[in-house]
Amino acid sequence: MSTESKISIKGMRIRTLNLSMIVVSCILYILLLVASTYALQEYKVMVSATENYVSCQKNALLLAEGSDYLTEQVRLFAVNADLKHVENYFTEVYTTKRRDSVFELAELYDANPYYDRLQLALDNSNRLMEQEIYSMKLVAAAQNYDMADYKDVQNVELRAEDLALSREEQMDKACDMVFGEEYQKNKAQILDDISDFVNDIIHKNQQEQQESTTDLRNTMRQQQVLISILFIENILVFILIIRLIIKPLQIYISNIKDEKRLEITGSYEFKYLALTYNNIFEINAANEDMLRHQAEHDPLTGIINRGAFEHLREMFKSKPEPLIFLIIDVDKFKLVNDGYGHETGDKVLKKVAKLLEDSFRSSDFPARIGGDEFAVIVTHATWDMVSIIENKIHTLNEMLLHPDDGLPEVSLSVGGAYSERGFAEDLYANADAALYEVKENGRCGCRFYKEQDSE
Ligand code: GH3
Ligand code: MG
Repeated sequence: MSTESKISIKGMRIRTLNLSMIVVSCILYILLLVASTYALQEYKVMVSATENYVSCQKNALLLAEGSDYLTEQVRLFAVNADLKHVENYFTEVYTTKRRDSVFELAELYDANPYYDRLQLALDNSNRLMEQEIYSMKLVAAAQNYDMADYKDVQNVELRAEDLALSREEQMDKACDMVFGEEYQKNKAQILDDISDFVNDIIHKNQQEQQESTTDLRNTMRQQQVLISILFIENILVFILIIRLIIKPLQIYISNIKDEKRLEITGSYEFKYLALTYNNIFEINAANEDMLRHQAEHDPLTGIINRGAFEHLREMFKSKPEPLIFLIIDVDKFKLVNDGYGHETGDKVLKKVAKLLEDSFRSSDFPARIGGDEFAVIVTHATWDMVSIIENKIHTLNEMLLHPDDGLPEVSLSVGGAYSERGFAEDLYANADAALYEVKENGRCGCRFYKEQDSE
């Protein structure tokens, strides 16, 4: 089909639409997947930062509690010499170990700028513990306690000057060692160093938490944008499918039902289909017209043939309008054929048909109903038209008898009949009878059937 080469078709191809939508959707879904994975990672970072923040705060609290507890127990022992405080002290040091949680942090955060201060605090803390244990040893010596269960205390060797002290003096010194100004200062310094370290970690964790929260929020916004674009893309696809496929299909079905040409609409493929269909539609219509024309017209003269004339006759039978019917016969036509040949005879027949067509109105129907026999149905007739028609025939005969085209002279005999109410039953026979009269009376003339003719 050369439709495409005749007319350049503009329009989006369904295949192109389909392919572009697949590509756009895939890109959007991949971006969404990446954004979701990134959001999940950010969420994990945020959760771990939050957990770290909480655990740092908890550890800082534990450190303060553990440290204060040790001070409290060593001081109580120095005051009341009750061994249960030694027991409590070492339980805290070896079992409860609340302070150690901070040392665990140290392993995690050894890159921290405060790490050195933590190390220093740990050394100082150990030194302070030595001081506390020495104080305990003094109390134990003053009270003559067996400290076999507390190896840390037992292993401490009292200095000679302390051994020389009285019991009261030993107790006083023990108290002084854990209540004195120096002890307080050391303890405060250790706590300061550790709290600086912990506060820094907490600050860092807080920052990290905020950063990951901001990142997570941004990623969520990106996801929202991507989902919105996907939504818009989906709506666009629906609109394009309706415009390019569904709507044209509906229009085409309605066009086909109405036996009309297809509207050129929709995608490239639909437009191509419509143009192809319209081409075939036009060819079919032209063929139908040609066949109808061939079926209804005489091939030699081109005017209505006998078959179509019979149809008209039937049609006018049911139409109660006045009309005039003429039967026309070429006079002595055999002689034309015999004298000039069949071909010349044909030319004469064509000439007669042409003259009849030109002489009558476009609302009248000239037809060839036999070899040299013609008929005319004159519509919207009145009886007054009879004389006009007689004159017309007279003129025609004048022309045929004085030809200027080299064809032989011929004349026409015409019989006519008038009817008030369509193609009456006897109209044909009446016109034929009138024709017979003309033939009988020397031919070349026109005569109308009158009632008295039949009498
Ligand atoms: P009349 O005046 O009594 O009508 O005499 P006529 O010679 O015309 O007699 P008739 O009408 O009976 O003759 C018709 C002739 O027309 C007979 C036939 O050879 C001729 N004819 C019929 N059809 C054609 C045709 O298609 N072409 C040609 N050239 N002649 C035809
Ligand atoms: Mg004849």
